[in-house]
Amino acid sequence: MQTDIRRNPGLLKLELYCKGMRIDDSFFNETRQGRRIMRTRAGLGSGLELLLEDGLWTNVPVAEDFAKSSPYILFREDEKLVIRRDGDREKIAEVELSPKPEWYEQKTKSSDKMMSRIGSLQGTYLGIYPSKVCEYWLEKPEKSNCKFCSVGLNLGVDDADEKSVEEVLEVVIAARNESRITYVDFNTGHYEGDTYLDILEPYVRRVKEETGLLIGVQTPPHNDLSRYDKLKKMGVNRVSFCFEIWDRERFIDVCPGKHREYGLDRYLEAIDYCAKLGQGDRFSFDPWVSNGEIIAGLEPPEKSIEAIDWITSRGAIPTVCVFRPLQATDYAHLDPPKTEDMIPIFGRLYEACMEQGLPIGVAPNVHVSLVLLPEEGRYFTKNPRKFALKEMALAAKKQVFRRKFLGDLEAHDRRRAEKGIGVSQSA
Ligand code: SF4
Repeated sequence: MQTDIRRNPGLLKLELYCKGMRIDDSFFNETRQGRRIMRTRAGLGSGLELLLEDGLWTNVPVAEDFAKSSPYILFREDEKLVIRRDGDREKIAEVELSPKPEWYEQKTKSSDKMMSRIGSLQGTYLGIYPSKVCEYWLEKPEKSNCKFCSVGLNLGVDDADEKSVEEVLEVVIAARNESRITYVDFNTGHYEGDTYLDILEPYVRRVKEETGLLIGVQTPPHNDLSRYDKLKKMGVNRVSFCFEIWDRERFIDVCPGKHREYGLDRYLEAIDYCAKLGQGDRFSFDPWVSNGEIIAGLEPPEKSIEAIDWITSRGAIPTVCVFRPLQATDYAHLDPPKTEDMIPIFGRLYEACMEQGLPIGVAPNVHVSLVLLPEEGRYFTKNPRKFALKEMALAAKKQVFRRKFLGDLEAHDRRRAEKGIGVSQSA
């Protein structure tokens, strides 16, 4: 593994998650062109969206307390943005601001709402949290929200509370036309009576039918697992279950609501069930992926690695977030994890996915700013040649899938355009 952070953009992405960044006054000298820092409900992030070398998208913590003592400072130098190390001012990397979508400032025709309040780009995909706030945040006398979570704090700040199917569709089409998105992610919290899939399905059906885009759904695990068969038939391509913590005692402490309502085992059963639904589908052009999501930094690294090994052994793909002590959350006072503790986790993430032959990095134009993706774990592997053959097979699969998917998307757009629905004619 390349340990020089100036030559390893993956390591820089990880280091910035763990240490954050300060922003020099020179940054504000020019008109701001990037994406403003948003507090939305569709993700964990609150940071500055940047593009690093090798086309890595990231969301760098700048508002949290720990970022104030970061050794990294962002300067504007003529036309360039440069991260330097404090002290000797050594240049670490040149970076770019993630492009700010023009549609953020437009209003929906159906409801006259600012489009950025309906959905926001996280890297290059569109994240939407279409319904009311997670009910763990509303319980009295005591809330049972997950302790790292900021969803209830963000409500109504940059994100509208409830969103109609019509206005969501308008925003998806705008993001497709102007930002060339290929993937839409729908996210909910917990609602009494397992209603989250009932709530999401009308959005999913309409967006799939009108746009043909890849669609993901992130909700608690439904008690009727056959609902996932139906979601798959409906055209959903990814289901994600955030159990966050592998250690059972720690899970109860960090996620009291999830423990009470579902329990860790129900999350694991859903991941396993959904992974099996996709088996035999590996070369399908209608992809289906089961994801298990964890947060690294809230339990010992070996527990995160156990979780990764379990998820991949079931044929599912892990999503690994780096714990960020967001302002005003129950865990705001905790330290972020140490980079050196995270490196083996992300190295293992990549290797475990490759060992199991999982289809990582195949979806076209999906770059994620809030997490280090399994394929980005390559930056931490000790023996990059170990999976050379599997990498070649994966690259070929990616090419074939990309061509087919983008061709289908173009055809879909043309059909919509012929019917007079405003979608672009190029992928
Ligand atoms: S389930 Fe937990 S992480 Fe998800 S929105 Fe609710 S409190 Fe936040």
